[in-house]
Amino acid sequence: MPNTPIRQRSSAQPGPPPEKGAAKPMRILLVEDEPKVSSFISRGLKSESYIVDTAPDGVEGEHLATTETYDIIVLDIVLPGKDGLEVLRSIREKNVRTPVLLLSARGRVQDRVNGLDAGADDYLTKPFSFDELLARVRALLRRGRGDGSVVLTIGDLLLDPAKHRVTRAGAPIDLTPKEFGLLEYFMRNPDRVLTRTMIAEHVWDHHFDTSTNVIDVYVKHLRDKIVKGSDEGFIQTVRGVGYRMTLPQ
Ligand code: CA
Repeated sequence: MPNTPIRQRSSAQPGPPPEKGAAKPMRILLVEDEPKVSSFISRGLKSESYIVDTAPDGVEGEHLATTETYDIIVLDIVLPGKDGLEVLRSIREKNVRTPVLLLSARGRVQDRVNGLDAGADDYLTKPFSFDELLARVRALLRRGRGDGSVVLTIGDLLLDPAKHRVTRAGAPIDLTPKEFGLLEYFMRNPDRVLTRTMIAEHVWDHHFDTSTNVIDVYVKHLRDKIVKGSDEGFIQTVRGVGYRMTLPQ
């Protein structure tokens, strides 16, 4: 996958994971045009072991948000080119459900109202303390990870992240931890084409060798367990690209 020159990515720093029991580093996309603010937030998050990609404008931010997968997007509202609210509306229309934390300027109440209406999950008013940003990121991660009571459903297939349980039409399905992680990732991204690289980074880790057919083998096992009858369409193969989970017709 080609990297744009402005994109910055770092590996997780050594040290304790950001959340107790976190199995893998969390990935955050930061869309912020002011270089000082961007590098301040990004350095702080990296020192907390998060993986951070940065984008300096709305166009690049939207591109990354729709082609990569993140656990959280921190999105400034006032951006050159395409502003944060436009980016937010556009990625929600494209079915990207990643939690979004908006950064808004003080006194712009209408921005925040519009932001929440457009599908933001939380907002923070500038200037803010880094500790508060961290606390909100952690809260969104907990929510996104299903530590609350969120149960994922597609048709009669149901996945409960908190109870680690999967059922289809009420009948329990027994999955290995990797199969469960794979299914959870598919169900959190319905109707989206997930490339093998995206799947590898989320279900395995970012050093995973995507030239092997391990992912295809796991997808096959998963299909064998969740598909019944003639609805193979549940996890579609997108030839040469990856997979997409959609509700069977
Ligand atoms: Ca700005």
